Amino acid sequence: MQVQLRKVRETESTFLMEKGSVRCIGSFWRSGELVKIEGMVEGKLRLTCDRCGESFEKEVSEPFVLEASDRPVKVDESLDVIECFDGMVDFDEICESEIASIESGYHLCPRCERDGEFETEL
Ligand SMILES: [Zn+2]
Repeated sequence: MQVQLRKVRETESTFLMEKGSVRCIGSFWRSGELVKIEGMVEGKLRLTCDRCGESFEKEVSEPFVLEASDRPVKVDESLDVIECFDGMVDFDEICESEIASIESGYHLCPRCERDGEFETEL
């Protein structure tokens, strides 16, 4: 779903994207020059264990908060701001990148997680 940034209103609208067994849901609204986006990635994600390389499924529920702007953003304000120079907010892309950022994090499969707990106990 793509939305023209200038047309976003101050009243909340919602978005939903599904990718396999994962969904990305949330809402967005105008706040001055910016568009605020609050969402959540939830569902079963297929991840790769960083220790043993096994792939496994994990139930995730990760909230995110972003802002979108069609103007260049100052460096110290650029954290979690999406620059939309073509004036369009692309929610598919936002959801894809939120899912990708969870996938690229550090993950242990349930077995390695248990082993890790043993190690810290010893
Ligand atoms: Zn593992």
